[in-house]
Amino acid sequence: MRFNTKTIHGGQEQTDPAYGSVMPPIYQTSTYAQSTPGGHKGYEYSRSGNPTRTALEKSLANLENGNYGLAFGSGLAAIDAVLKLFEPGDEIISTNDLYGGSYRLFTRIFEKMGIKFHFVGMQEAGDIENYITPNTKLIWLETPSNPMMNITDIEAVTRIAKKHGVLVAADNTFASPYLQRPLDLGADIVMHSATKYLGGHSDVVLGGLVVRDKVLYQKLYFIQKASGAIPGPQDCFLVLRGIKTLHLRMQRHCENGEAVAKFLRSHPGIDQVYWPGFDDHPNHDIAKRQMSGFGGMLSFTTKEGSLNSATKIVEKLKIFTLAESLGGVESLAGHPASMTHASIPREERQKTGVVDSLIRLSVGVEDIEDLLEDLKQAIG
Ligand SMILES: *Cc1c(COP(=O)(O)O)cnc(C)c1O
Repeated sequence: MRFNTKTIHGGQEQTDPAYGSVMPPIYQTSTYAQSTPGGHKGYEYSRSGNPTRTALEKSLANLENGNYGLAFGSGLAAIDAVLKLFEPGDEIISTNDLYGGSYRLFTRIFEKMGIKFHFVGMQEAGDIENYITPNTKLIWLETPSNPMMNITDIEAVTRIAKKHGVLVAADNTFASPYLQRPLDLGADIVMHSATKYLGGHSDVVLGGLVVRDKVLYQKLYFIQKASGAIPGPQDCFLVLRGIKTLHLRMQRHCENGEAVAKFLRSHPGIDQVYWPGFDDHPNHDIAKRQMSGFGGMLSFTTKEGSLNSATKIVEKLKIFTLAESLGGVESLAGHPASMTHASIPREERQKTGVVDSLIRLSVGVEDIEDLLEDLKQAIG
């Protein structure tokens, strides 16, 4: 099956045995009748398994070319489950330009539990080697990164990791499996905030993991069941529905993203535009190799450079909504320094480029003319 067909049918071969419903039913139940103690049809209690969740988990695994999928109540709950694989004394190398919530989870929850983190720029994959010790257990990468759109060479990182017996997990939220499939490039775990492109309609919060290795899956399944951060069946259904149009939406996100990036770059009021599709983006060649398009996410700074200049723009936008999150059909604008990345200390933030005038756009699937007109009137 090819990718576009997979979004609709992947992992969903089994039709509903009761009535043949084309979409998997929402099994809104906590428990399942047993004919005799232990005599059940594969489901006992909805924390350990629910058929609607299974349908979504199979779809996620299929899209990422993995063998096993796991769905969680949020993207962060999925990351939390990955980190629970480790023990005090273990070390994790993470990209230094990452989702603010991931940084907060790492430093405020798991550091306290005795896990040591090294935050490292990963644009040069070889730099990672300097931080690997006998205690290193995981490399956490996010590419394209949030919000600087840095690109990490997944294949190069996994090559280094394998040499040292270290696992690699990739946050694939920004690219979605339509543009990039990290397991094919050697990663062990793919993580998604399905809240974003997979769900695609800004109406659900949900997370996912996909792996190939059975033992790793069993460990993660145990954590999912033992810690209990599962999504409800209705939310699983919404993500399944979103996935069916992932390819159509992503195609338009890419087209509109490119048009907006080029418009901003030619605008005299704009300083930097961060978008991996530009020839002179530092890792453009890697992006071209490991992604099939450049997506709808980009960031830019104003020439004026002040917090005020960015605030004025985001307040004036009419079609772009000022809001956190990304990946929905509607265009959103965000101000990372005061919104998504406010939990990262200012000094740390600025080191990675998250300056006060940085604005992040999630370019939606509206008519491009309307989006460009909106930006024009807001920037002035
Ligand atoms: C949103 C996001 C997360 C967290 O996911 P939630 O569903 O909000 O918990 C993690 N990583 C990235 C890149 C994100 O954009």
